[in-house]
Amino acid sequence: MSLMEIARYPEPVLLTVGTPVSEKEFNPDLATIVDNMFETMHDAGGVGLAAPQVCISKRFFVMDVPDETGESNKLTFVNPEIISVEGEQIGDEGCLSFPGLFQTIKRQMRVIVRAQDIKGEKFEMDLKELSARCVLHETDHCDGITFLDRMTILKREMAKRKIKRLQKTGKWE
Ligand SMILES: [Zn+2]
Repeated sequence: MSLMEIARYPEPVLLTVGTPVSEKEFNPDLATIVDNMFETMHDAGGVGLAAPQVCISKRFFVMDVPDETGESNKLTFVNPEIISVEGEQIGDEGCLSFPGLFQTIKRQMRVIVRAQDIKGEKFEMDLKELSARCVLHETDHCDGITFLDRMTILKREMAKRKIKRLQKTGKWE
């Protein structure tokens, strides 16, 4: 396994809609990339990491939101589709492509997501709270959408100013 380089905003790959993973791409190469993505995400202290964040313009992501006992819960979503959403949650959100930036974001409380696993098997999951937030955030990455687009205009302007400051001090690389 090896660590991958994480793309920082505003790298174009983060603003590009990913292409679906085709049937023939469910192969050992995909499994290796996914392993490396888990390692990269854990190393960076994140709970989710999407392919575009490691410069792969494809529709898949990994996530590890620990359960109540702190037990790891590694999941891979390939070609994710949000089937339905419900409710609302407001909370702080970060992104490994925006180091040091945390902002309050409103998301849905519950999602039903359909995806394929690493072998191409289809599955559906009903998730709440942080897991739902994470699935929505990472599926956005597959669509070339970053959490900046989910902020209120005021917060987005504040965030952009903070990014400029961090870039100037070299803390964004
Ligand atoms: Zn992100």
